[in-house]
Formats: sequence, C-alpha cells, structure tokens
Amino acid sequence: MKKITLIIPCYNEEEMIHLLYKELCAVAKKLEIRENVQYETELLFIDDGSKDRTLKFIKELAMDDDRVEYISFSRNFGKEAAMYAGFCNATGDYVAVLDADMQDPPSLLPEMVNILEGGDYDSVAARRVHKEGRHVIHSCFAKMFYKIINKSLPEDIMEGARDFRLMKREIVQVIIEMKESNRFSKGIFEWIGFRNCWYEYESVERAAGTTKWNFRSLFRYSLDGIFNFSSAPLNLIFGMGIIFVINSIVLIAAIIIINLTGSVSLYEFGLLIGIIILFNGLQLLCLGIIGHYISKIYQESKHRPHYVARETSDENMKKIF
Ligand code: UDP
Ligand code: MG
Repeated sequence: MKKITLIIPCYNEEEMIHLLYKELCAVAKKLEIRENVQYETELLFIDDGSKDRTLKFIKELAMDDDRVEYISFSRNFGKEAAMYAGFCNATGDYVAVLDADMQDPPSLLPEMVNILEGGDYDSVAARRVHKEGRHVIHSCFAKMFYKIINKSLPEDIMEGARDFRLMKREIVQVIIEMKESNRFSKGIFEWIGFRNCWYEYESVERAAGTTKWNFRSLFRYSLDGIFNFSSAPLNLIFGMGIIFVINSIVLIAAIIIINLTGSVSLYEFGLLIGIIILFNGLQLLCLGIIGHYISKIYQESKHRPHYVARETSDENMKKIF
C-alpha cells in the first residue's frame, strides 16, 4: 500500500474543519479501495496561528484518528510558510496541498491520482476556470500579473492556477531544497520543471467561513510574487532610464536653440519646473523599486526559519525550519 499526504493550511477555519474532515474521509475511503494500487492517507493539518478553535478541533480529530497529524505555528506565518512546513514533514509517496475551505475540491483527488498513476506525469495541478465572468478590474489585474511573472519563468503559470496540486515525492524533495524565505509557490512549481498535467475544474465558492483576501492583500500578494520571482521591474526602469536620457538630450538641445533665437518666457520656465518634478518623482519611484529588492535581499540574508511551531502531533516533526 502506498501513502498519500494531504497538506491542509488552516488559518481561522473553525467552521470548516469538521466539514472538510468528513469530505476527506470519503476521499480517503475511495483511495483505499482503488483497484491496482491502494493508498493510505495522512491528513497533515497546519494550523497557521489561528485565533479561533481551529487547533482545538484538529487536536480532537487527531485523538480519534491516527491518520490525522498536525503542526501548530507559534503565530500566523502565512500560507506559504504553512505549505513549506507541510512539505518538510510529509511522509507520503504522493503529496498534495489543498485549502481548508474546499475551494480545492478534495473529490478531485482520486482522478488526480489516476493521472499520476498513468505514468506520463510527475504532478497534477488544478486550474480553476470561472463559471461566470469575474469582475473586469480583477481579471485585468490577473492577466497583467501573469504576463509579467511569466517573463521570468521557463514555463508559463496558467491563469487560474491554484496551489492545489498532487506531486510525487521527488518533486517535494526539490521544493524543500528551495529555501528562499520570500516564497511564491506558483513560481517555484514552474521553476523546478518536471512533467505537469493541468487539471481543469469549475470554480466553487467557499463552503463556510470567510476568505482572508481582499483586493488590497491580493494586490500586495501579486506585487510580492513579482518581486520574489522576477527582475522585470528592474529591466523596466533600466529601459525607462535610457529613454529619459535620450529625451533630455533632445530637450536640452531644443532649449539651447530656442534661447539663441529669442528669450525664454515664464511659460517655458514653468514647464521646465514641471518636467524636473516629474523626473524627480520617477527617480524616487525607481529608487523605491530598487529598495524593494534590497529589502528582499536583506530578509534573505538573515536566514531566518520559515516557521516556528508551538506544538506538533508527532515529536519527530520539525518544529523550526
Ligand atoms: N491560510 C493560511 N494562512 C493565512 C491565510 C490563509 O494558512 O495566513 C489558508 C486558509 O486557511 C485556507 C487557504 O490558506 O485554507 C486559502 O485561504 P483563503 O481561502 O482565505 O484564500 P482564497 O481561497 O480566497 O484565495
Ligand atoms: Mg479559499
């Protein structure tokens, strides 16, 4: 019998734990009675410093069911850290990450396992397609984000890609080796390569509880993704620099010629001030972008652990990593 580890990052998901557990048990049953290869399931809950009863509920499950394991963080470290903790402590031959809110439907797992068993692929990644059109601004930003980020990746991240994927052990090992603290998993999955199959499904609403994202945090997540994985903004300001230098040489030449032919009026003086302010602004913006990269380097150079666990279900699990 092979083993499959399901990593479930949870942050304030008290409404979801029991619902999800029920669904996961049904899926685990299906995996146990498959033809050919059967799978036992490990449910690895990562409590990302929840402030509600999430941990309490997980612990209760772990008492009754020895398939349930958990790691509870000392504070909220974010989903990326939770996934990393999961990868570092998963023991299965296959490993999958899925959200606690069932927006990554666990019912897709048996089919995803079938695809991996087929032998043509090393991972199966879920990609959600939207039933009804999303907000225009939202899709515009999403398109722009993928365009920029894909420039820095060997393979394009598909639009609608989730962190929900089922992977072979070898891939998990490579992900653990990627120790950067500014993590962007969707980029990491593409960077490491291997043969991935995209598995489409129609998007579903959260089963209970509330999302931790709003437009602002999504925007920040996208910017972080770009800064963590791409040097496109640096190339952009380099290009801008070249264009501005050429333009200013032309402008200076024009002003000299105008000055030779007559006097410079106040209008032109005002315009000049305007241009200077504009360019100063642009310089500050560029410095800001460079500063952002420096701050990322600074964070990386500290080599802090990705997460700190307050308690784990098994004492062999890594508490700090
Ligand atoms: N999550 C987490 N830490 C956080 C925020 C979210 O572990 O700081 C978990 C959350 O419990 C859920 C998953 O990450 O299982 C996705 O979160 P959410 O549903 O809020 O995101 P969305 O599906 O809206 O993108
Ligand atoms: Mg969700």
